[in-house]
Amino acid sequence: MQFGLAHNGNLTNAASLKKELEDRGAIFSATSDSEILAHLIRRSHNPSLMGKIKEALSLVKGGFAYILIFEDKLIAALDPNGFRPLSIGKMANGAVVVSSETCAFEVIGAEWIRDLKPGEIVIIDDKGIQYDSYTDDTQLAICSMEYIYFARPDSNIHGVNVHTARKRMGAQLAREFKHEADIVVGVPNSSLSAAMGFAEESGLPNEMGLIKNQYTQRTFIQPTQELREQGVRMKLSAVSGVVKGKRVVMVDDSIVRGTTSRRIVQLLKEAGATEVHVAIGSPALAYPCFYGIDIQTRQELIAANHTVEETRQIIGADSLTYLSVEGLIDSIGIETDAPNGGLCVAYFDGDYPTPLYDYEEDYRRSLEEKTSFTSSRLKILHKRKGLKNDK
Ligand code: SF4
Repeated sequence: MQFGLAHNGNLTNAASLKKELEDRGAIFSATSDSEILAHLIRRSHNPSLMGKIKEALSLVKGGFAYILIFEDKLIAALDPNGFRPLSIGKMANGAVVVSSETCAFEVIGAEWIRDLKPGEIVIIDDKGIQYDSYTDDTQLAICSMEYIYFARPDSNIHGVNVHTARKRMGAQLAREFKHEADIVVGVPNSSLSAAMGFAEESGLPNEMGLIKNQYTQRTFIQPTQELREQGVRMKLSAVSGVVKGKRVVMVDDSIVRGTTSRRIVQLLKEAGATEVHVAIGSPALAYPCFYGIDIQTRQELIAANHTVEETRQIIGADSLTYLSVEGLIDSIGIETDAPNGGLCVAYFDGDYPTPLYDYEEDYRRSLEEKTSFTSSRLKILHKRKGLKNDK
């Protein structure tokens, strides 16, 4: 049986499954966890292809959106929490397409049909489109970072346009902001929508105080601190003619390590801003992600190791305001009865929607390390002890 496989996400039980498979003679050709599903399908004793795929999907845990291509069919599947988005579209000639962002449909002239639901499988072949599922134990908890940072503003996820959600986050942030300022400056590009919302709500002018060099990569993906610092320098310039003599609200989508924020505050001050108030369109990122974002240790996150006041001092801002978790959930506004408005907000509150399997012990140990957040960590630890018995 030959097939191709694409995977967006991260499996939380990859190490255990890989060991089990290797003990049974499987040979892995790469370090990626994407290969695991292929081995599980191949080794299943279920007589039907769909039976093998469903069995394999029920063994993998964590965040995954898969696309499998066989000679005569395309199959797509989503994890039981739908951490990653996956949508189905149709071309004018009847061809069916699958994408993790709906903006791709516009590019190729396809029409959006619908988003895949948690735990769902779609089978596309010459009979058309059939929907099926491999589990009933599902609950929507889509990654809130998709709305905050990852997805393109022209994409829609679960009926919510990303630009509109970001504008609402900016407006809510303005309601939570408590300082005096003259202008709003969004950090290009992912924060421009939030800056628009902030300016509209606060009545302050939205100015282009920062210009982005279009040809650089996202800085947090760079492997070393030196490269990240260099990346920020190459990426942005402050516009002195706009910010000089002004009290600036600098709207950004998030602070991960603080490198980028510190450098941008410095750029704005060097360009003549008299005050720089940093307003972040998401809550403080204090916990790692195990579902597909490559930050798996708390040491890397500035908010995991410093209070808001300490972070403000490190980045050199005159004030620092984060959006509240409730404000984030209300701003996104998915129509659902699922907890947290159908969102995963574990990055902010450490309350993961699933057990962490292979990561559980490391994570527990990292919470027990001494920091300034002892009481909130104890609360999370207490919750996680309960969670472990759930599933
Ligand atoms: S932990 Fe954070 S980044 Fe990971 S899925 Fe949840 S919200 Fe997204």
